[in-house]
Amino acid sequence: MTAYPVGIDLGTTHSAVAWIDAAGRTAMIPNADGNILTPSVVLFDDAGIVVGREALKAVAASSGRVARWVKRDMGSPSYSQPIGGHYMPPEAIQACILSQLRADVERALGKSYHAVITVPAFFDEPRRRATAEAAAMAGLPILDIVNEPTAAVLAFGEQLGYLTSPGLAAGPLKLLVYDLGGGTFDVTVAELRPGQVRALATDGDSMLGGYDWDRRLVDLAAEAFQKQFGADPRQDTTSLHQLHIEAEQAKLALSARAKAVIRVVHTGRVLEVHVARQQFEERTADLLYRTSVTTRQVLSAAGLTFKDIQRVLLVGGSTRMPMVRKMLADLAGKEPHGEVNPDEAVARGAALYASHLLAKSQPPAQPTGRLPPTAAVNQRPSPQLQVTNVSAHSLGIEGYNVKQDRRGNTILIPRNSALPVSVSRKFITRKIGQKSIVVQVLEGESSRPEECTRVGRMVIRNLPPGLAAGTPVKVTYEYGSNGRLSVKADVSGVDRSMKLEFERTGERTAQQIAAWRQVLASEGSFSRLEPMIRSDQEAQRAKAGISNEEVVALLDAPS
Ligand code: AMP
Repeated sequence: MTAYPVGIDLGTTHSAVAWIDAAGRTAMIPNADGNILTPSVVLFDDAGIVVGREALKAVAASSGRVARWVKRDMGSPSYSQPIGGHYMPPEAIQACILSQLRADVERALGKSYHAVITVPAFFDEPRRRATAEAAAMAGLPILDIVNEPTAAVLAFGEQLGYLTSPGLAAGPLKLLVYDLGGGTFDVTVAELRPGQVRALATDGDSMLGGYDWDRRLVDLAAEAFQKQFGADPRQDTTSLHQLHIEAEQAKLALSARAKAVIRVVHTGRVLEVHVARQQFEERTADLLYRTSVTTRQVLSAAGLTFKDIQRVLLVGGSTRMPMVRKMLADLAGKEPHGEVNPDEAVARGAALYASHLLAKSQPPAQPTGRLPPTAAVNQRPSPQLQVTNVSAHSLGIEGYNVKQDRRGNTILIPRNSALPVSVSRKFITRKIGQKSIVVQVLEGESSRPEECTRVGRMVIRNLPPGLAAGTPVKVTYEYGSNGRLSVKADVSGVDRSMKLEFERTGERTAQQIAAWRQVLASEGSFSRLEPMIRSDQEAQRAKAGISNEEVVALLDAPS
């Protein structure tokens, strides 16, 4: 039985799936409606769970039962809106979308496939962890997680012949990938060589996307309505949802035309608000500006200027807004390129990456007939693909700084380090007879732990009595190409075989994931999910309560 490589772009507003076809090319897998894009929207109906177009249609009528833009809440304990009166974990909602995509894949390819899921490059550890859990809850066989811009560069590389026949491709290309989707934004500078994709620097914003542009139109129209009728449609959930749909439609129209109309319906009254493209651009200029600041920062982090960049790649539906193209053309002094389809590039690139991983695990040198039928592995003259990512955030440890007499963040792996990377650093215990040590992993740039994300921790308990103050502790962080972390700590003179699990903040056990998987796969009304939501919340709360009393911060000992 052969395994097909599959790429899944789990987007904020839409998701898409690609595979490598028999001719060795990437191809999209349509959903049951025959569409390439599946709205990332879930309706928790009494009759069951509905994902995609039908769920989107129900947004206005069943707003308390519909979840959308869930990707923005990944890494948080719960989705921002209650569903059926309950705060659900974002992972479980994303799992519903992934289950639907899984059904689409299985309808097209059968059960033998392995998938790669994409995430924004700047997704931190908790968000990556949450994505992996969502995939596990959906029962998806996942090979790895890959960064969206890396996938986009792979898709672009495929088009230019960089991944297939090196002879076709010219010399190295430096690219800037500007990815503005429905809910997230990121910029990556990368280098493309035959058979090689190397990210050089990356940054982004998990709370910036087309959604925010929609909101500005929602506000504009709601203010006009309020002025006319003295009532605010944003105060009513149903009116607000309907208005958001209208606002997004107007935004799409403004990409093609100079004017659009937003119809506001609230308390039985109707107002048609006319918007000009220029007015829209003025109302959103600050959002666009934020993206331009990030773009410049990423370039300078890569030690480059626009003169060094040969191509600007546009990814994500929101790059269709003329203001984006104009801003980038002004900044770069050259027109951005539209070679890759912004809706499909990420899924296609993920499929290429999946094929590369499968080829690595199933070397084409043994023609056993069990190799993937994908030409990507054994029919294409593919050079060995090399993909290098960078860390989007710095990873540090919460330590005790004696000189300043306060806790601080000591960075072990600086942002934009090429992955995989492994860094060890020596610390020492702080007090005589210290009973336990906490390696508290922080993600972020600040020197203050409270301004960083607490990714997880490792607790070494039951240290031998009377352990001397200043006992060396070697801490090692290993950061994989997929942006996932493992942590080791060795206390000098103490049982070296001691194996400790790195406890990720909020990570679920295999049993909890299996329980979610079972309940999500079962049929029936929303009430069947309620006991699971409650027990999940309790388990999460219990974890958050790990006692900190016994543990003493590490003292950084400069080596
Ligand atoms: P993605 O997450 O890449 O699917 O991007 C979806 C976002 O792109 C949504 O916010 C859409 O409203 C937006 N979008 C799609 N097409 C257009 C367009 N023609 N003009 C402006 N925004 C668009």
